[in-house]
Amino acid sequence: MTTPSPGPAPATARRIAAPVTADLLVVGAELVATVDADRREIRGGWVAVTDGLVSAIGGPGELPPPASRVLRADGALVTPGLVNTHHHIYQNLTRAFAPALGGTLFTWLSTLYPLWSRLDEEAVHVSAYVGLTELALGGCTTSTDHLYVHPRGGGDLISAEIAAARELGMRFHPTRGSMSRSVKDGGLPPDSVVQDDDEILAESQRLVERHHDPSWGAMVRLALAPCSPFSVSPELMRATAELAERLDVRLHTHLAEDPEEDEYCLATFGRRPIDQFAEVGWAGDRAWVAHCICPNPQEVARLGAWGTGVAHCPSSNMILGGGLAPVAEMRAAGVPVGLGCDGSSSADSASLWLESRTAMLLGRLRHGAASMSARDALEMATRGGAGCLGRVGEIGELSVGSAGDLVVWPLDGVAFAGALSDPIDAWLRCGPVAARHTVVAGRLVVEDGRSAHPDLPAMLDRHRVLAGGIQRAFDDAGVDPSTTATASPAGTRR
Ligand SMILES: [Zn+2]
Repeated sequence: MTTPSPGPAPATARRIAAPVTADLLVVGAELVATVDADRREIRGGWVAVTDGLVSAIGGPGELPPPASRVLRADGALVTPGLVNTHHHIYQNLTRAFAPALGGTLFTWLSTLYPLWSRLDEEAVHVSAYVGLTELALGGCTTSTDHLYVHPRGGGDLISAEIAAARELGMRFHPTRGSMSRSVKDGGLPPDSVVQDDDEILAESQRLVERHHDPSWGAMVRLALAPCSPFSVSPELMRATAELAERLDVRLHTHLAEDPEEDEYCLATFGRRPIDQFAEVGWAGDRAWVAHCICPNPQEVARLGAWGTGVAHCPSSNMILGGGLAPVAEMRAAGVPVGLGCDGSSSADSASLWLESRTAMLLGRLRHGAASMSARDALEMATRGGAGCLGRVGEIGELSVGSAGDLVVWPLDGVAFAGALSDPIDAWLRCGPVAARHTVVAGRLVVEDGRSAHPDLPAMLDRHRVLAGGIQRAFDDAGVDPSTTATASPAGTRR
């Protein structure tokens, strides 16, 4: 896929123009890890942001520009903002929902779909406000969201979550999810939360036309995202790919999450999931997919050749227990691999720092201690995520002309005592750590470890009320999970 807008030319100079009064100057960092094309790491570095973009970067020997606001980063690590490539934010309304936790995957899905069928615009707005705040506290500046439950009468849920992202100032890539196969078609969801193909495609186009911004530094971009190749028809997969091509937006779906999915696809389509993915016109660099736990070596090579991105969700892989994505193999094959926290219900926490650390630990567990460093994990959480979202050079790095999205991470206190030699290793091996400051487009979303938005306590109160109402659907319906876990299509573990 071509970059939607050329943006500034790759800068060789370290400033766009000087002297310019920057909007924000971050100074005094222990280390600035730029994760740029040269992977520059600047001891004692500083970063200036002007009009939402990085306008200058330098070290102790270089004079920073004057700035309207100066943010001290003494003793801290500064990284690009982390990029979350897979999530279902609305699921925080049923986080760690006890009746769904003890059974099989299909138990919890069957239990939760009737609850999620109560989603409406307010519930999605409040859950997105809280969920995006949680992400910002963990150092995320750009998040995607895969919202595929659209109950009849629930309203315009994608616009509701975009409104929350705009209020918070988070960079946001919602994906218009869809399901067209309900219980009567052999799927899991009830009829009330699936839509027909024409409705899905028309709504997808309307949302792209209303919200998608292809320009450099865009705060909102949409992608199209059938839930999985088997929760919609092959015809809808194909039509969605064609629509994405026409509108020049990206494609997202779940793929190759479970060995059962292989069996299901072989039985239903006569081919493996990744073959089916190619069959319906998705193979290419317009798409990034969630999980990708079960590709065989030939399929890993094909994904790399296509340039199809993968959202690796390490906590989700572990909680669901269905296997671990072959991350080292995919990266070696040239697959853009980013990190995702996945939805509450599959992971229940939403810290990209935690996902970065978990990715590092899992990588070392699979392939040995030398196989995955803190820098590898940082790279996946930043540049890798930018690759998934088609924004390399624009987000996920700190370079002149890139988005002014950065995180100031504290490296002090008890957890970091004695960690003097390498701030990046210390950042991921010590901890736990949350952002001291999270900056998106030059504006603070998290300041001194707290949300910069005074509405958060009221939104949390409202979230509690809304979540309680949705969870009461379980009692209202008298659902007994032991009676709802029946044979179901594979790979529908959303
Ligand atoms: Zn998912």
